[in-house]
Amino acid sequence: MTTTETRPFQAEAAELLSLVVHSLYRNREVFLRELVSNASDALDKRRLEGLRDPALANSAEGEIRIAVDRERRTITIEDDGIGMNHDELVSNLGTIARSGTRAFLDKLRAAGDAAPSLIGQFGVGFYASFLVADEVTVDSRRAGTGESWRWRSDGKGAYTIETGQRANVGTTVTLHLRAKQGEDDEDPADFLEIDAIRDVVKRWSDFVEHPIRAEYDEEVGDKLEHRSETLNSRRPLWVRAKEEIRREEYDAFYRNLAHDWTPPAEVVHFKAEGTTEYVALLFVPGQRPMDLFDGSQGRSKIALYVRRVLILDECQDLLPSWLRFVRGIVDAPDLPLNVSREVLQQNALVRQIGKRLVKRVLESLATMLDKEREKYAKVWADFGIVLKEGIYLGGDEDGRISKIALFETTHGSDSSQGSVPTTLAEYVARKKPDQKAIWFLAGSERRILEASPHLEAMRRRGEEVLFFTDPIDEWVVERLQSFEGLPLKRIDSGDLDLETSAEKEAREKLDRDHREALQAVETRLSADVKAARFSTRLTESPAVLVSEGGAVSANMERILRAARQEVPKEKRVLELNPDHGLVKKLLELHAADPRSERVGDLVELLHGQALLAEGSPLPDPARFSKLLARLYA
Ligand code: ADP
Repeated sequence: MTTTETRPFQAEAAELLSLVVHSLYRNREVFLRELVSNASDALDKRRLEGLRDPALANSAEGEIRIAVDRERRTITIEDDGIGMNHDELVSNLGTIARSGTRAFLDKLRAAGDAAPSLIGQFGVGFYASFLVADEVTVDSRRAGTGESWRWRSDGKGAYTIETGQRANVGTTVTLHLRAKQGEDDEDPADFLEIDAIRDVVKRWSDFVEHPIRAEYDEEVGDKLEHRSETLNSRRPLWVRAKEEIRREEYDAFYRNLAHDWTPPAEVVHFKAEGTTEYVALLFVPGQRPMDLFDGSQGRSKIALYVRRVLILDECQDLLPSWLRFVRGIVDAPDLPLNVSREVLQQNALVRQIGKRLVKRVLESLATMLDKEREKYAKVWADFGIVLKEGIYLGGDEDGRISKIALFETTHGSDSSQGSVPTTLAEYVARKKPDQKAIWFLAGSERRILEASPHLEAMRRRGEEVLFFTDPIDEWVVERLQSFEGLPLKRIDSGDLDLETSAEKEAREKLDRDHREALQAVETRLSADVKAARFSTRLTESPAVLVSEGGAVSANMERILRAARQEVPKEKRVLELNPDHGLVKKLLELHAADPRSERVGDLVELLHGQALLAEGSPLPDPARFSKLLARLYA
């Protein structure tokens, strides 16, 4: 005699079911991931229980079978796992048993319209079946029991339980696919194609340990032939011992993951053991991806697995934005499946894992810098600009980023090998004993900086200067301030404090002696220049512009303007080289006739020349060129 009981879903279970169905209709394919995961868990459970009680164990290797029946419009997912008895069917499929799920439900309720984005990323369980089915049957037989049970529901508030016919231990979930509903509903019958099943399994469940086998019929000529095919590759690279993985295998894995055909520059593969266990397999790409600076800007993306099942293909919370170029996966068995993105963000385990990943990536870069300088230089050229964001954003704990940063330098530029980018530590090791700072000059291009008059004094002193050509460099310096106790200082600032007291005295005397001429310069240039004075920093150039105090540098001003930001116009100081012919000429002309037109022309010319030399635009290029022509006429 079979009796059929009808029971209502627990109120909360009914609510979750309807939320899942309404939120995930665009993500229908996850139903298969969920059912496969459940089947895989059931196989694991049986293996475990079988260890304690051999009577419960599987005689063969357990597997998961997926079959489609086009005529009946059904998909079945079958396993030889632990199975469920009557009470388990009731409590597992009719109620919400786990407190985590309840908390998740609370979050979903609170999220309102945002629920789909929360729910879409995470394990939603068995109820996902109703995304594609209008009737679901679960036939199950619990290991160690002699009975089989059948659970059945249309997902609308109630389910039935009756005795079933299943002969073997395990569970079969049969989905009767619903009809297409309206124009923009994708037909669930698409999943009756084996190609679709294959794709979804590959995407979400490729690394499930148990074989996932597809059973289907294929037309061969006018006959149907039965096919059986294993869909998943099962043994993920990351669970294998590092020593037995060949570099080509890593490369192939990376290619699939990142869709990038250039082999990765670096592989970081490690297993954390102890209180929290997880595996991380990370890659530093071999080339800068096109989208490093657009679209998903600032978002890192690591694929997150829980026990080989993909949970989130772009988890942003494991790595900071300044490591967004790193690709890879983390498999963390201890993470809960049913958590929202927000919970994940605050999850202590995620934070802990993330910290460790950052540490390992930076360590491996440091090792590369040490052992494979050329290769590292390429990595830095591709991603240094992003890594430097980390300094600016406060990620430079113990100098772990600034120590591996490379900068263009004047050092070695006259050698036959040309200049090689330097680390700050190398710079400090080379500095003159009495050198006061790590000197730098910031601008848009090395070529222009190399011609800068500001370099003249440093050349004379034999002190090295770094060239900062990334827009972010100046912000980085703001944050860094110093390295190994040596301050970082821009050489186009007015107060370098390099003069000897004799030099200073001589210069100040010059300033006093020619006060009137300097006054004339200041008056003529009052719109752009706040003062004029003589300089000891120049050897070849006639004049140079320097920033005073905390003024925005010329480079920063240009960057901000390019970013369409309001920049207050900072007047700078014009320093004149008293030994230069043009400056001497100016003093002469002024002495002869302070009001002469030629004095004014020459002043403008000197100012324009100083602007050109630092790579700044001229306020009036046409006028400058006329003045220049007149000079030689
Ligand atoms: P979750 O898998 O996240 O726990 P589900 O709603 O998918 O949530 O499933 C609820 C419970 O039902 C599972 O925890 C498991 O105990 C049981 N279950 C689901 N599918 C199977 C299966 N194929 N075999 C055995 N038990 C299952």
